[in-house]
Amino acid sequence: MKTIGLLGGMSWESTALYYKQINEEIKNKLGSLHSAKVVIYSVDFDEIEKLQHSGDWDKTANILTKAAQNIEKASADFLLICTNTMHKVVPQIQTKINIPIVHIADATAKVLQKDNIKKVGLLGTAFTMKEDFYKNIISENFDIEVLVPNEEDIKIIHKIIYEELCLGIVNDDSRKEYLKIIEKLVANGAEGIILGCTEICMLISSKDTDIKLYDTTKIHAIEAVNLALE
Ligand code: GLU
Repeated sequence: MKTIGLLGGMSWESTALYYKQINEEIKNKLGSLHSAKVVIYSVDFDEIEKLQHSGDWDKTANILTKAAQNIEKASADFLLICTNTMHKVVPQIQTKINIPIVHIADATAKVLQKDNIKKVGLLGTAFTMKEDFYKNIISENFDIEVLVPNEEDIKIIHKIIYEELCLGIVNDDSRKEYLKIIEKLVANGAEGIILGCTEICMLISSKDTDIKLYDTTKIHAIEAVNLALE
C-alpha cells in the first residue's frame, strides 16, 4: 500500500472527513484491521484565510510548499491538498516537490465524465467559482460546461463557507439557501452539482435533493485510496 500525503487544515473540519473517508474506503476494500498509511500536515487556516482575502496568493503558495516538502520528506508517495480553493497555487507547489499532486478537479471531472454529465453547476468559494484555475480544468480538459451562480448567490455561498462551515457550524437556513441556489443552476441546465468546497458535504447531501451531487471531499478521498492500492 502506498502512503497518502494530506495537506490539510483548510479547514480542519474537512481534513477530519478526508482522514475518516480514506480509512473507511481502505476498510471497504481490504477488510479486517486494515487502515490507510497517511501522513498529514495541517496548517493554521486563520493565516491562510487572511492571505487569501488580501490577495497574497504567493505567500499562501510558500506556506503550502513548505508543508508539502515536509510531507514528501515524511515519505508520502503522493499528495492531496484537502481544499478546492488552494488548488489555485498547485502549479507553484508542484514545481518544488517530487511527488505528484492528485488534483481535486481532475478527480471530480473523471467521475462527471463517467456519468456522462455535459453541463454541471459549481458551488465553492468565490475564488473557485469566479476564477479560471478550477473551472478550466473541467471545461477545457474534459469538455464539460461549468455553470456558476449569479454574483449575489456567490456572495451567500462564500460567506456561509467561511463564517459557518469552516467553523463547524451547520445551519438549516443556510441549507435552504444552498438548495435554492442549486435549483436555479438546475433550471439553467445543470445535470449535476459539484460540491466544490470540501466542507459543503457537511451541509448538503443526497438526502436533501434529487439532483446528482458530486462531493469533492469524497471523490478526492476515494481517488487517493485507488492510487494507494494500485
Ligand atoms: N475547504 C474549502 C475549499 O474546498 C474552503 C477553504 C479554503 O479556502 O481553502 O475550497
